[in-house]
Amino acid sequence: MSKYIVSARKYRPMTFEEVVGQDHVAKTLKNALQIGHLAHAFLFTGPRGVGKTTCARILAKVINCENPKNQVEACNECSSCTSFNDNASFNIFELDAASNNSVESIRMLIDQVRIQPQKGKYKVFIIDEVHMLTSQAFNAFLKTLEEPPEHAIFIMATTEKHKVLPTILSRCQIFDFRRIQISDIVRQLEIICDKENIQAEKQALHAIAEKADGAMRDALSIFDKITSSVSGNAITYKDVVNNLNLLDYEYYFKITDACLIEDIAKVLLTLDEVIKQGFDVEQFVLGLADHFRDLLIAKIPSTIGILEASEELKKRYYDQSQLAQASFLLSGLNMLNQCDIDLVRAKNKRLQVELVLSKLAYLSRAVNSDVFAGSVEAQEKKNSVANVSLNQNTDKPLNLSPNHGSNNTGTTSKPQQVVSQPETTTTNIESSNQSKDIVEPVASSMFGNLDKIRDMVRQSEASKLKAKKELTIEGIQKIWNNYMELNPSISLKKAMELTQMTLQDKTIHVFVPTQVTKDMILQETGLIERIREEMSATDIILDIEVNLERFPEYEEYRTTVTLSNKEKYLEMLKKNPSLGLLSKKTRSKTGL
Ligand SMILES: [Zn+2]
Repeated sequence: MSKYIVSARKYRPMTFEEVVGQDHVAKTLKNALQIGHLAHAFLFTGPRGVGKTTCARILAKVINCENPKNQVEACNECSSCTSFNDNASFNIFELDAASNNSVESIRMLIDQVRIQPQKGKYKVFIIDEVHMLTSQAFNAFLKTLEEPPEHAIFIMATTEKHKVLPTILSRCQIFDFRRIQISDIVRQLEIICDKENIQAEKQALHAIAEKADGAMRDALSIFDKITSSVSGNAITYKDVVNNLNLLDYEYYFKITDACLIEDIAKVLLTLDEVIKQGFDVEQFVLGLADHFRDLLIAKIPSTIGILEASEELKKRYYDQSQLAQASFLLSGLNMLNQCDIDLVRAKNKRLQVELVLSKLAYLSRAVNSDVFAGSVEAQEKKNSVANVSLNQNTDKPLNLSPNHGSNNTGTTSKPQQVVSQPETTTTNIESSNQSKDIVEPVASSMFGNLDKIRDMVRQSEASKLKAKKELTIEGIQKIWNNYMELNPSISLKKAMELTQMTLQDKTIHVFVPTQVTKDMILQETGLIERIREEMSATDIILDIEVNLERFPEYEEYRTTVTLSNKEKYLEMLKKNPSLGLLSKKTRSKTGL
């Protein structure tokens, strides 16, 4: 059996060219080498596993190489290079400050610094995790760092730059190493797959790169783990998902699809499936938020390039994003973010997530009802003080605050229509003041719907705030009106409009003119739930009573609306009671 070498070591870059994702560092170091201006102390900072030690070793090798190519790359052939590659060079000293942080360790290192190199020009001292040195060790090291012998080069590496003493920082040339981009990691993994003769699905490599979180070393360890666990020479996305216990993105696609068609059963069942597989709801919420973010990015052709996914997956994101409105995705993102925050102190986390998902499932309807079902009349009825309509062709971002709209009309040439509501209540003034802060520049017509959602959210927030103070008929009326406006059904709107209500303790007495109206409102179970939720009182009762006497004007009204068959019959029955007798006979004859 041949000796197994982990990929992180086997494919450790040998030259600056091979270093992945740190081009800015490699370029600066190469320039310094070319013009011969090499500092004697470097500090490499950045997250773990991004190539700090690797770069330090490459630099050490290059400056000791006997025939460097173009002064910047090691030949990898001379005796110095081969001894470096075999880890047998006497010109490189590595000190792991995490385990050797005492003054004693530093003194031993300083002793080494004094001795001239026996072969080659430089001795390179690499101090890893330099921030772990004790302050005494730091101080012992300062003098040497300030006046090092010609042949000594210090390269310090740290993941936590802020913990390094300023006196050390000021004596070093500092290089910031970046997290490695997912696409760079994927490319490197593909190269390794080629060399190892492994067939890997692109999405599988993506999942590995994502999990590695910008660290190449982690990516390679994960890669090794998976290649050793699969039989044969192929890695599939499923292998990676199972191996790393990742949440398959299929779930997110599935839940989003279900939300878009208001299939709440599918939404809840999918969540159940996720939980049964042992995943945290927190992880799921974050994943779904990421998914929405990806959809939002995929929606705009110019930003789809930002997506770090395979072409095939990008296409799927694009397809789903075309089914969802930007306003749905934005509001969804908001709700998921809030849910993530709320989950920290939630006692029943699953319930919290189910609640948000249920809301998401009806979000499309809320968005649509306002955008599409809203007629001009409905717009005027809206509680906003003024409604500024934006010119669709405006390509410059505009910052319009509705409450300043009337001032702007005189000074700007943009056509603006200001519709003011005659009656202004206290809440309106409050909300108009808030809107100054909330309304942001409108970047494109695509986000035009956002203002409407903001309005809706603001109104419901305002009514919530007001209602929570005390249980009043005005508060309930406000929730009632809000519910009515958001509901897409025209007939329900009419029914809800045609009511009178009084409040007695915790019972809301609602008077309606007809049985049909009563039935319609009774069927709307979400209404009482909404009132209870917003009033924070679960014991509120809705009592609906048909009482035509309270609606003298209803006689006039109903002549203008089409009556249902049942209503027509009841109307006729009232005028001619013998009709009831006839109907009974007919029923018994026909056997109905
Ligand atoms: Zn060489």
